Amino acid sequence: MKVIKKTVKLDNVGYDIRGPLVEEAARMIADGKQIISLNTGNPATFGLFAPAFVEETMKANIHKSEGYSDSRGINDAIDAIIGYSVSKGIYGLDHNDVYTGNGVSELINITLQALLDNGDEILIPTPDYPLWTSIATLCGGKVVHYLCDETNEWLPDVDDIKRKVSPRTKAIVIINPNNPTGALYPKENLLEILEVARQNGLIVFSDEIYDRLVMDGHKHIAAASLASDLFVITFNGLSKSHMVAGFRCGWITLSGDKSCVKDYIEGIHMLASMRLCANVPSQSIISAALADPFSARPLLEPGGRIYEQRECIYSSITKIPGISSVKPKAAFYLFPKIDTEMYGIENDEQFVLDFLHEHHVLMTHGRGFNWPHPDHFRIVYLPEVKELMTISGKMEQFLAGYSQKS
Ligand code: PLP
Repeated sequence: MKVIKKTVKLDNVGYDIRGPLVEEAARMIADGKQIISLNTGNPATFGLFAPAFVEETMKANIHKSEGYSDSRGINDAIDAIIGYSVSKGIYGLDHNDVYTGNGVSELINITLQALLDNGDEILIPTPDYPLWTSIATLCGGKVVHYLCDETNEWLPDVDDIKRKVSPRTKAIVIINPNNPTGALYPKENLLEILEVARQNGLIVFSDEIYDRLVMDGHKHIAAASLASDLFVITFNGLSKSHMVAGFRCGWITLSGDKSCVKDYIEGIHMLASMRLCANVPSQSIISAALADPFSARPLLEPGGRIYEQRECIYSSITKIPGISSVKPKAAFYLFPKIDTEMYGIENDEQFVLDFLHEHHVLMTHGRGFNWPHPDHFRIVYLPEVKELMTISGKMEQFLAGYSQKS
């Protein structure tokens, strides 16, 4: 038989879900070690499960969900998505403007595959949710990262965006609320980004999967609600807000001016049809879930798990000498900065690997989010307060004697 070489080239993609850290953790688990995995935002791992009504709805609909659905999705789900979009100020959608998908992930794949020809540029934030960069690169696109500014609450730096637009730029990605920083973008910032898109004829991709996980009384603003004249694809799903990451349930809405994107939409439709449809049992819960979109809210208020966990991790990690962080306003991630001089750190992946070996806690290094410097790491703060306190204590103890300089 012929030797088959790697066909999906992940070189230069910037992120490999099966990277050395994950593989080392798997090896340690196989060796009988107990590892705390703080590397994926998977609520069920930490005992945060779907509300009962979501599970009941899926069970009640399982028989009706046995066949393929229309490739856009079942009517009931599409109606609910349109209704939810209206509640966020996105108007004018009809059934042709919605696609359900097997998670937002699949829809990132479809929308980028339909858009990018070799060498086309796409603006993606740094740090980013790395799937955006990986898929754009695999599609042959050239990713141009624009800066989110830590000294300004991790908001997108609009001047940097302006500097990086070129005649080959086709689209800009906004991730709001943001993974990995937990930032929530104010209206003024969004308006400025949208103005750059308007001036340069860019498609806007707005990944809003954490829009129902906002704290401190803030309100999420949908980018599409501020720019009905622009073509905006808004991404959302139930993995996080309803704690059903394993159900693979997401959707996109296509809003605004479609006069210049008819071919592109045809491409999206073709790719959505090629995968036949999204998981139908998952689609069957969308209308019930969106009838109660804020079922996670009690977790996000003082006394609630996610709120208290954020307070705990933020205060306990930032009191360690040489570690600072912007306080997240949404989602469940902290992206602390580490004083690399103080700890002689040149390689952030090595730092996370050393911590894994010594304390059996798996995190993700900042460069895993396409952050260019070795001075950040991300913590998923889904474990309960007691465990988070233990983890911070381990980090403090670890750093007290740590240096990469021999
Ligand atoms: N977008 C962002 C910003 C995410 O953080 C994630 C998952 O962590 C996804 C998309 C993927 O979500 P899904 O589970 O719907 O594929």
